[in-house]
Amino acid sequence: MEEIIADFVVIGSGPSGQKAAIQAAKLGKKVVVVERDIEPGGACLYTGTIPSKTFREAVVDLTRFYERHFQGQEFVHPDVTIDELNNRLFQVITEERSVISRQFRKNGITLVQGGARFENPNTLIIVDRDFRLKYQIKADTFVIATGSNPRNPPDVPFDKEVILDSTTLLQIGKIPKSLIVLGGGIIGSEYASFFAALGTEVTVIDRKDHMLPMLDAEIGIHLQTALTDIGLKFLGNKEPSEIKRINDRAFVKFKDGTTLEAEALLYALGRTANVESLHLENVGITTDAKGYVPVNALFQTVVSNIYAVGDVIGGPCLASTSMEQGRLAARHACGAQTHHFPTFFPIGIYTIPEISSCGYTEEELKAWGFHYEVGRAYYYEIARSHIVGSNTGLFKILFHAETLEILGVHVIGRSATEVVHIGQMAISFHAHIDYFIDHVFNYPTYAEGYRIAALNGVNKIKFRKI
Ligand SMILES: Cc1cc2nc3c(=O)[nH]c(=O)nc-3n(C[C@H](O)[C@H](O)[C@H](O)COP(=O)(O)OP(=O)(O)OC[C@H]3O[C@@H](n4cnc5c(N)ncnc54)[C@H](O)[C@@H]3O)c2cc1C
Repeated sequence: MEEIIADFVVIGSGPSGQKAAIQAAKLGKKVVVVERDIEPGGACLYTGTIPSKTFREAVVDLTRFYERHFQGQEFVHPDVTIDELNNRLFQVITEERSVISRQFRKNGITLVQGGARFENPNTLIIVDRDFRLKYQIKADTFVIATGSNPRNPPDVPFDKEVILDSTTLLQIGKIPKSLIVLGGGIIGSEYASFFAALGTEVTVIDRKDHMLPMLDAEIGIHLQTALTDIGLKFLGNKEPSEIKRINDRAFVKFKDGTTLEAEALLYALGRTANVESLHLENVGITTDAKGYVPVNALFQTVVSNIYAVGDVIGGPCLASTSMEQGRLAARHACGAQTHHFPTFFPIGIYTIPEISSCGYTEEELKAWGFHYEVGRAYYYEIARSHIVGSNTGLFKILFHAETLEILGVHVIGRSATEVVHIGQMAISFHAHIDYFIDHVFNYPTYAEGYRIAALNGVNKIKFRKI
C-alpha cells in the first residue's frame, strides 16, 4: 500500500468537491481528490444535472418544440429516437469532463481513483473495486463531498428496463409510449415534462395535491396548466402500495385501491446520502435521522478538521449551492477570509416551461403578516415571447407596499433560470421596485418582464392611494 501525504483531501469529485479542491489549491495547499468512479465529475456530470439538462435541450431542439406555436394545427410532431438524445448526452459529458480534468491539472490537483474510508481523523484508506488496499493518505484537512444516489427501497423491483430511477432512466433503449412518474418533486417534474414534450403519455403521481409544492402557489398553478397543455396528466393525493413489473409493463397499485400501468415507471421519491462506505464511525461522526452528515454553518462536522459539503449534508441538494459550500469550506479550512452561505439564492427548475425563484413566496409573506404588493407581467405582454414562439409564462415580483423593497421574484417561462439573476441582485442589494421603472431595458428581451411587472405593481399602490 502506497502512502500519500497531502495538506487537503477531498472525497468525491462532483461540483462540491471540485470547488473545494480548486479553492484549496489556489490558496497554496497540496490537494488530493479521491474519486471512486473511473472518471471525475460526480452524479452531477453522469446522472444528474448535466445529462438531465442536456436531455431537456435536446428534446426542445429535436421536437422543434417552439415551432408548434407558429404552425398550430399544421404542426407534425417529429419522431425523436433515443440514439439522437444519447449522442447529445455523450458529446456534452465528454466536453464537460475534459474541462474538469483540465482544471485539476492546471491547479496541480492530484486525482486518486478508489473508494475512500476513514481510519482516523488524519488518515484515509483507499480501496479498489475488489476492496484491495491501494493507498493510505495522511492530511490535516478532509472534505466529505460524496454526494447522493437515488433512493431505491428494497420492495421496489428496479430492473433498469421498466422500473427505473433517475440514473437508469438514462440507459433506456427506446422512448416509452407511456410513463408513470412517482413523485412530483423537481426531478420527477422535470423528466415528466421532457417525456410529455417527446409525445409520451405521462402520468405524474404525488401524495400532495399538486406538483412542486415548495413553489409560490401561483407559479405552481401556472406550471400545471402549461404541462396539461402538452398532454401531461397529474394525479394528486395518491400513494403507491405496490409496484411490480408484469411482463414488459410497470404496474402500480395505490392505497386508495386504484391501479395504473404503463410501459415504464420512473421512481423519483428521494435520494440517499453516500456515506455507507466511509466508515464514519472510525472518526466519531454519526449521521442524522435522514442519513445526512450534520455540519455547522462553516461546514465543519463534529470533528473540526473534517468538513462536509454538497448533497451529503442534505438540502437544498443543488449543484449550484454545493459548489459554493465547497468553496466556503475550503476557505475556512485554509484560514482565508470567508462569509456565511447566502440567505437568498435562486432555485432553477428546468421543466418545460422552466421556473426560477429567489426570495420569499407570497404564501410566506402572507403568513408573516408582511404588507406586500404584487407586480405581474404575463409572457404574452412581452414582445420577445411572440418573436420566439412561446408566450406561456409569468413574472411575479413581490415587494413591500410601503418601502417598495423587493422581497421575492418568481418567474415561469422561457429563460426564467437566466433572468432570475436580475431579481437576485435586486434582492441582495435591497433594491426598490421603482429601479425597474426608472431604468431603460434592452428591447425586445425577456428581462423587460421586470419592468412590466414593476409598473403593474406600483400602479396598484398609486391607485389605492387615490
Ligand atoms: C436528475 C437530476 C437533475 C438535477 N438537476 C440539477 C439542476 O438542474 N441544477 C442543480 O443545481 N442541481 C441539480 N441536481 C442536483 C445536483 O446534481 C447535485 O446537487 C450535485 O451533483 C451534488 O454535488 P456533490 O458534489 O455533492 O455530489 P455528486 O455530484 O453526487 O458527486 C459525489 C462524488 O463522490 C463520489 N464518492 C462517493 N463516495 C465515495 C467514496 N467513499 N470514495 C470516493 N468517492 C466517493 C461519487 O462517486 C461521486 O462522483 C440534479 C440532480 C439530479 C439527480
